[in-house]
Amino acid sequence: MIPFLDLKKINEPYETAFQEKLKLVLNNGWYILGKEVETFEKAFAEYCNAQYCIGVGNGFDALVLIFKGYIELGKLKKGDEVIVPANTYIASILAILQADLIPVLVEPKLETYNINPDLIQEKITSKTKAILAVHLYGQLAEMDKINEIASQNNLLIIEDAAQSHGAFENFNPDSYQDQFPNNTHVSLSGVEESFGAVAYSFYPGKNLGALGDGGAITTHDSELAKVLFSLRNYGSEKKYYNEFIGVNSRLDEIQAAFLNVKLPNLNADNDKRRAIAKRYLSEIKNDKIILPLWDLSNNHVFHLFVIRTSNREDLQEYLSQNNIQTVIHYPVPPHKQKAFPPETSGWNNLFFPITEKIHNEVLSLPMSPVLTAEEVGFVIDVLNRY
Ligand SMILES: *Cc1c(COP(=O)(O)O)cnc(C)c1O
Repeated sequence: MIPFLDLKKINEPYETAFQEKLKLVLNNGWYILGKEVETFEKAFAEYCNAQYCIGVGNGFDALVLIFKGYIELGKLKKGDEVIVPANTYIASILAILQADLIPVLVEPKLETYNINPDLIQEKITSKTKAILAVHLYGQLAEMDKINEIASQNNLLIIEDAAQSHGAFENFNPDSYQDQFPNNTHVSLSGVEESFGAVAYSFYPGKNLGALGDGGAITTHDSELAKVLFSLRNYGSEKKYYNEFIGVNSRLDEIQAAFLNVKLPNLNADNDKRRAIAKRYLSEIKNDKIILPLWDLSNNHVFHLFVIRTSNREDLQEYLSQNNIQTVIHYPVPPHKQKAFPPETSGWNNLFFPITEKIHNEVLSLPMSPVLTAEEVGFVIDVLNRY
């Protein structure tokens, strides 16, 4: 059986190091916001080329706190509209709602599954104040175009990088600044250049996964960072003195310790994922299967390798009979979820044909840094015989 994702195998090489770290934390006797969190925040900020990293409880909270932080700074207010791709994992959309903002859904491109920048402008109203760019399945959204639209319309850019740790574009920040001199919020999940904010998740299955929940925000914006360090901890910088209506969402000390062990291997793991993706892309040859579009650059870290096919249930069953486990990301588009009935949000009545097509046709093949060459070859052979 080739599992879709073997988390135990992914974490096995780190077991001794995890145990040593655990001993260290036990010896320290400091369990919340201690040295390990501080070390990780410093290391992850450096890894992302960001000035600041704020460790939080999970990826969802990272998004919510960015929105709440901008609200505290007066850059967003209740009822403002936020552009978001219609086919994202629902957490992106729920985070906007959780911050009392209004999600405005925009169709993705069928070829990349990422938001179609050409369809953003028509959704912008006087209430639109931000774009939540999601780097879905590990591939960066078209940030150059998104940044330009944001710049022209004075919108904030927030990035959901929960699936794209370590993805970066081959881009030159100097020429970028020449092109968009007024852009104060250019940011990328791997390479940050200015005042955006990026949300990460360390859910166990993500490219950088903890052994439980975890998340982080990276940013260059010192004002935002200051508010976020406080908001995650009850809105308090000095114990028992509260400046903001904050929450409890701190990156756990033990999870931070585990992440400190794993972070140095993230680039190597992403390289392995890209190598597998290259094989899938060059060796899968079957007219019934549509492969994802990728330019072979480091803008993709293949959190997922997502194909499309018109008879998905049949293909999934065939693969399963051949001992290959696959998963559907995701079976139901956010606007069709029961959580958004016609009587309240009315979303269930909306029509997003590209999004709905994607949700009907996508299938994620096994993908992880511990997949062997033989396993990849087997998946390819079985698919070519379909
Ligand atoms: C996983 C994920 C999240 C949420 O992260 P959690 O840590 O599970 O809260 C948000 N957005 C996207 C795109 C994700 O894949």
